[in-house]
Amino acid sequence: MDLESKLSEIGKNLRSSLIRELLKYASVPGSISFGGGVPDPETFPRHELAEIAKEVIEKDYKYTLQYNTTEGDDELAKQMVKLLEKAYGITGIERENLLFTTGSQQALDLIARIFLDKDSICIAEFPVYLGAASAFRINFPKFETIPLQDDGMDVDYLEKKLKELDEKGLVNQVKFIYTVPTFHNPAGVTMSLEKRKRLIELAEKYDILILEDDPYGMLRFEGENLPSLYKLAGPDRVVLLNTFSKILTPGLRLGIIIGRADIVRKATLAKQAADLCSPSLNQRIAARYLERYDLFEQLKPGIELYRKKKNTMIKALEENFSDIPGAKWVNPQGGLFVWMTLPEGFDTMDMFEIAKEKKIYYIPGQAFTVDDSVSTSMRLSFCLPPEEKIIEGVKRLKEVVVEYGKK
Ligand code: PMP
Repeated sequence: MDLESKLSEIGKNLRSSLIRELLKYASVPGSISFGGGVPDPETFPRHELAEIAKEVIEKDYKYTLQYNTTEGDDELAKQMVKLLEKAYGITGIERENLLFTTGSQQALDLIARIFLDKDSICIAEFPVYLGAASAFRINFPKFETIPLQDDGMDVDYLEKKLKELDEKGLVNQVKFIYTVPTFHNPAGVTMSLEKRKRLIELAEKYDILILEDDPYGMLRFEGENLPSLYKLAGPDRVVLLNTFSKILTPGLRLGIIIGRADIVRKATLAKQAADLCSPSLNQRIAARYLERYDLFEQLKPGIELYRKKKNTMIKALEENFSDIPGAKWVNPQGGLFVWMTLPEGFDTMDMFEIAKEKKIYYIPGQAFTVDDSVSTSMRLSFCLPPEEKIIEGVKRLKEVVVEYGKK
């Protein structure tokens, strides 16, 4: 059978993600990987989760081992309402404003399904979270990307872009503006309060929805919390995505859409077609965990661990790269990533060949573009390697850069 002739347009276009391909090398013995954005397993509350899992399987098996509603666990919803108030100061959330998803990755997919068509325009940041771009691509929208600066999205550029689209009569094809305003993946930057307000003003002026993706907001190791876009503008303008992946464990695959009831309803219908429901067991485990433990207290040692690792990476970068003119890096106040940019002329994808020889892995910036363009940047995750490996890894990275520079 000739598979190509049978495949749909989507099927034909599916490609293995660059990250997936690159991470294969990271398991080579002796390698150090700054690649995956995966949490340190030592932060997972495994004993607490094991105890809860046993209990809810034995006692609540009629619920936990059964199908669920598409909307998800009501007990988790009750806990989520409390968590949203504590984490973001968001109040007034009703059950109809919440949908539990299989990771926030599914939330991105559902949003793409309900909003995007072939002639839609999707505004995203540059660099963009690769998983979001892949999810949105399912319906072949056109992307417009807005560069990131040290204090988040370049809103002047966004304003110009929206004006331009408006003049061409295209602004109503813009379905949403996708942003990771806090501890951006991959760029590590956080959008300032002033920019948050301007982004909302622009979205209101042109009547565009904002899709706020916030997996890292609760992982702050320094600086002051900033209000979420959802808190500032409300459900008429913003859909907020969250996940338990970085604050509890990605193994539960639990994400959430918080938004206007009619949007949540549409996403629920799309989810029904996709997978009927997310696992009852996982949702109930998370519900009991939030009921029994203070998540913020529980998170403290993990945040401290990431803070130390981040500081170790920044110090190592300062020690190794200060003599390379034009090399710069973002020092994030939270999250899991440092974004490093090399001088003009570097191509971090091409440089990966040397990195492979020296067994040091990173994600080339090209992976975070919507058009596969060459990049002088790379994402360095500090979350997984122990501190001594971070120091050694940055030394190897310097060797890679010096060798590539001689080419
Ligand atoms: N959004 C962003 C910005 C992310 O970094 C990630 C995970 N890397 C996700 C969404 C998806 O996370 P999950 O599906 O594990 O909730």
